[in-house]
Amino acid sequence: RNYSPRRLVYIKAIILGDSGVGKTSLMHQYVRGTFSTQYKATIGADFMKKDVDLGDGRAADVACWDTAGQERFQSLGVAFYRGADCCMLCFDVTNARSFENLESWRDEFLIQVGPRDPESFPFVVVGNKIDMEGKRVVSQKRAMEWCAAKGNIPYFETSAKKDINVEEAFKTVVRNAMDQE
Ligand code: GDP
Ligand code: MG
Repeated sequence: RNYSPRRLVYIKAIILGDSGVGKTSLMHQYVRGTFSTQYKATIGADFMKKDVDLGDGRAADVACWDTAGQERFQSLGVAFYRGADCCMLCFDVTNARSFENLESWRDEFLIQVGPRDPESFPFVVVGNKIDMEGKRVVSQKRAMEWCAAKGNIPYFETSAKKDINVEEAFKTVVRNAMDQE
């Protein structure tokens, strides 16, 4: 057997978006493969870790940082943002306001982290709750246009509940973060 050492890197991923869009659900689905309808806003760790194998010889120890209900204050603090390697911007496809607020989440992130080149920073945008058929108010086209205008941010439509596209979205942002190294 070939025990060639794999290169392990540490990635800090930040999950942002309005309260209720499904950030905690996406993280639990990705890290633990579970979905619950009740994640208490104030309970739980600030981050969850996952050993990610990208399948191309690269692996990453990913720490996903989730907000614990402070979204409404928009004061997540410097420790939350410090050293962020990538960022997942989340909205709920059944909530137009959560989509319109992506702009301020992105702006706030860029102010706090101050990456050299904001246009090429590894963001990913996630439109969650696509399982809620008939309730959608934000079209895929509208979301993709916003992403294109912000430096071609990859866009994924997900369901944390039905486990649709969750792994793909996380893997893409982690891979793009590793490509920046
Ligand atoms: P957060 O405030 O952004 O962390 O959102 P939560 O993860 O706490 O989710 C808010 C609510 O939306 C909860 O009742 C979840 O069960 C529900 N939810 C999250 N993701 C989905 C999804 O993909 N589909 C549906 N139908 N509900 C979801
Ligand atoms: Mg939450």
